[in-house]
Amino acid sequence: MMQTPLTVGSLLERAEKFFAKKQVISQTHDKLHTLTYTEIGKRTRKLMSVLAELGVQKGDRVGTLAWNHHRHLEIYFAAPGIGSVLHTINIRLSPEHIIYIINHAEDKVLLIDEDILPLIEKIQGQLKTVEAFVVMTDKAELPESSLHPLYSYEELLHTGDPAFPFAADINENDPAGMCYTSATTGKPKGVLYTHRGIVLHSFALGLADTAAISESDVSMAVVPQFHVNAWGTPFACTWFGSTQVMPGPRFTPKRLAEFIEKFKVTITAGVPTIWLGLLKELEQGNYDTSSLRAVLCGGAAAPKGLIQAFEKKYKIPFYHAYGATETTPLVTFSRLKSYQQDLSDDEKLEERSRQGILVPGLEMKIIGNDGEVAWDNQEMGELCLRGPWIASEYYKDERSENAFTDGWFHTGDVVTVDEEGTIKIVDRTKDLIKSGGEWISSVELENALMAHDAVFEASVIAIPDKKWQERPIACVVLHEGYRDSVGKAELLEFLRPQFAKFWVPDDILFFDEIPKTSVGKFLKRQLREQVKEHYSL
Ligand code: ADP
Repeated sequence: MMQTPLTVGSLLERAEKFFAKKQVISQTHDKLHTLTYTEIGKRTRKLMSVLAELGVQKGDRVGTLAWNHHRHLEIYFAAPGIGSVLHTINIRLSPEHIIYIINHAEDKVLLIDEDILPLIEKIQGQLKTVEAFVVMTDKAELPESSLHPLYSYEELLHTGDPAFPFAADINENDPAGMCYTSATTGKPKGVLYTHRGIVLHSFALGLADTAAISESDVSMAVVPQFHVNAWGTPFACTWFGSTQVMPGPRFTPKRLAEFIEKFKVTITAGVPTIWLGLLKELEQGNYDTSSLRAVLCGGAAAPKGLIQAFEKKYKIPFYHAYGATETTPLVTFSRLKSYQQDLSDDEKLEERSRQGILVPGLEMKIIGNDGEVAWDNQEMGELCLRGPWIASEYYKDERSENAFTDGWFHTGDVVTVDEEGTIKIVDRTKDLIKSGGEWISSVELENALMAHDAVFEASVIAIPDKKWQERPIACVVLHEGYRDSVGKAELLEFLRPQFAKFWVPDDILFFDEIPKTSVGKFLKRQLREQVKEHYSL
């Protein structure tokens, strides 16, 4: 067979050729833009020529600090299109981490959304490698800024070449993208995505038994473009010619609900906290969501109650998937097998709340205390992965040694696996609670609590205990209507029949809000501090 390279540029070239009329609808600070793939293609080519003029060379990193919109999509293709590396930076990280990431990646140019300029102005003195700043704005004039040299994205595009070719000398194993994990402890760790990895991952998103993304879809990625490339959906959707809807800066659940109705969104992707917020909005408003054929949920465990609320109340199919920054990210996808359709409703829900089976193209092994675990739904072990879109190391980072050994990526996720091969994430190694020598899964307790009508959010953490080593404490946010009527005793009573006695939390603390990470997951590190303070530990 021929050895033709799999390149990111070829994904957009296909959209230019075959889906010239299909659209990208993009919300920016000031307006809603509608562009065809012909226009996106021309603008991307102009951007490639402009980046080359700015001195960006093969292998250089081009950083972005931006929300989900069409300009960000254009850089997705322009940076790898000239052989440089698209480095999406998580705008919600602390300034210290952003400085570390930009210096560590040695970004040459930064493309920045207007509302993020003040953040970069404050840290510019500490950025060692950046030679040019480009502001992405709809305004005709450059905003007042101390950044230098500062260019306007649209003005640069005026001077660009709309026929600039995608680089021909790209090796499919060259890096095309880069993303740092949001680091719950220590410094963020960088992951490089190759052209080949991104293209093969895009195929995986199109498979009928995974997300089945296709030309007929109207896709709205809510997961940020700075978080594992919005789970790779912009690459796949462009390649397949789907319509893309980009919700832009500082979106609200209301905007998401309105966009779903207005643009007849068929598929959307995000973390559970986003979907909890959207549910609240759907309850308040009267939205037509009948176009939705799939809500993809990943990044953290999807509580059963969430799946049920979408499917039973709103008739919106809800799919649970699992992945990580190091895995591009799609690893498993949860769909019932044909013969599982006969299961009872409860059994189906149980199955679908698991993270699913491995997508084609990847390999897994689950390592417990005594080697690989049995597929018995009982034995726990760490999930290890291998495959063409799984990272083989952290970028210039000694910590690679801990996670990448014997040719496998050790995820740090503890799982069980049933006889169908369906995995269930029990916990992250660092969040498992060890009580009296036995493990307690914080995730299972959280999901059980969130299945109670009164509970909006629940996060379970360990506190040190003299006798048992650690004990679980549940932190709960109640729905507004239940704040006076439901208390600790009722919730503990609700848990008791579902768990072994020693699993039931020692206490339930009520919060107005659970602290979240930069990508909307429960921030257990901070929660532990708050709880320790509460008990004066
Ligand atoms: P981080 O959360 O470390 O910033 P990632 O966004 O890469 O970085 O998160 C990957 C992690 O998120 C996985 O290792 C896993 O612990 C968790 N995760 C992802 N998807 C799911 C899921 N569907 N269910 C439970 N946990 C998940």
